[in-house]
Amino acid sequence: MSVFENHGYCAICMKPTTFVAENAWLRDHYFCQRCRTIPRQRALVEVLTMIRPNWRKLMVHESSPSMEFFFRECPRYTASQFFDKVPRGEYRHGFRSENLEQMTIPSASFDVFITQDVFEHVFNPELAMAEIMRVLRTGGIHVFTAPKHKSLLKTTRRAKLADGRIEHLLEPVYHGNPISDGKSLVTFDYGADFDDLIQEWSGYRTCNFIIRNRNLGIDGEFLDVFVTLKDRVNQVPPQSA
Ligand SMILES: [Zn+2]
Repeated sequence: MSVFENHGYCAICMKPTTFVAENAWLRDHYFCQRCRTIPRQRALVEVLTMIRPNWRKLMVHESSPSMEFFFRECPRYTASQFFDKVPRGEYRHGFRSENLEQMTIPSASFDVFITQDVFEHVFNPELAMAEIMRVLRTGGIHVFTAPKHKSLLKTTRRAKLADGRIEHLLEPVYHGNPISDGKSLVTFDYGADFDDLIQEWSGYRTCNFIIRNRNLGIDGEFLDVFVTLKDRVNQVPPQSA
């Protein structure tokens, strides 16, 4: 039984559709009836299209993809996954094996780097963000989603790696993961200071887009889409000429 449904336009189907809220927690239960995507996925596509209307012609890379949309739509799209047992740089099922914190991808390779709900699962987000900035070309953007807890003033680390072993600082929380054993440990609860941390870790200013538009099937909590532009004019602190 649905909580509500409405007609609208799905950016991922690129067609009119019906959006169905199967549960009041819209973030995970407000589906496009056609493609079954959830609001944050549609929000990311909306923001990407707004910032880079020509993204289908660009070099787009995604870490840990969750939908086929970009594969289908973007001829130069490539993707990587963290595979424990596949040597870095090799391919498995069409995905390049990479550790986001230490990629084997050459610098200045991409125009767009996408991560969807990945950063709350990495142990060293500062390394991952610096790596993404390295593999982006000048003028390139990192477009990503990650839950930002508005009521949490300070970002909290939930788990860390010590000598290769996971140390839980808080009760373990897991999210679904399409590969490996089907669950991903949440390593960070990002708080209101997340934007500051992104800027500190990436070295560039970031923007935070929040869309609420039921006609686009976008409503619910934790729908922030972050965009970090790799460009000298956007560097923090600004470099003197
Ligand atoms: Zn759809």
